Amino acid sequence: MGWLTEWNRRRILAGNPVDEQTWRQASEGLSILNGLTETERRRLQEFAILFLSDKSMECAGGLHLTHPQRLRIALLACLPVLNLGLDWYDGWHAVIVYPDEFVTDHEEMDEAGVVHRIHEPRSGESWQHGPMIVTWAPIENPDLYPDHNLVIHECAHKLDTLNGAANGFPPLHRGMSAKEWADVFGEAFGDFQKRVDEDQETLIDPYGAEAPEEFFAVVSEVFFAAPWILKEEYPQVYEQLVLFYRQDPARRIAE
Ligand SMILES: [Zn+2]
Repeated sequence: MGWLTEWNRRRILAGNPVDEQTWRQASEGLSILNGLTETERRRLQEFAILFLSDKSMECAGGLHLTHPQRLRIALLACLPVLNLGLDWYDGWHAVIVYPDEFVTDHEEMDEAGVVHRIHEPRSGESWQHGPMIVTWAPIENPDLYPDHNLVIHECAHKLDTLNGAANGFPPLHRGMSAKEWADVFGEAFGDFQKRVDEDQETLIDPYGAEAPEEFFAVVSEVFFAAPWILKEEYPQVYEQLVLFYRQDPARRIAE
């Protein structure tokens, strides 16, 4: 990090102090943050302040968010990049927050080349170079869907698209093997699709069977929110995500 960036960072942090009570409000009930060391928790808080200073957070659908509520979204958004760095979120600027599921209109081409107009309710969306869209209800009440985390899901898409279209293949770190990633994820995704097709009960959200990029986003949610499930179901995927996110949530929650 250059001296100017470091100077800017300090200036932003000094200009936006947050007291302990506000942090408590912001993280209330977020068991996903359990087990972070004091150093990690501090870094996450700093990232959250910097994230809010870098991105505009816009409310839609009549929603109003307080400062602790904005910090709550920022804390969740920064968790995946805690050991990567905030620059992994460069290149986009807005977070749009809806109160609850919103309806999107878009066009999709099917395999026969026919374009369909899609009008469907969604809880999150992430556009390459564009905004990240989330809904407040599941963020406010994480217990509603304990193994899920919408913000992490959309952030995983953001990381995935750093090296091109979303395909479940984010830029890997030096020392990681692209072949191993492709083999592990390819095999797990194939197995998961088969189980979902056969209507087998899965602890992982069947939405992950939609496409490789959704599988990556869904297993990223489970990795942080309920890591023991992913470790049990797809241990090799878990290991690849430990290498990618440079975190081991199962270990920190167990300790
Ligand atoms: Zn998705």
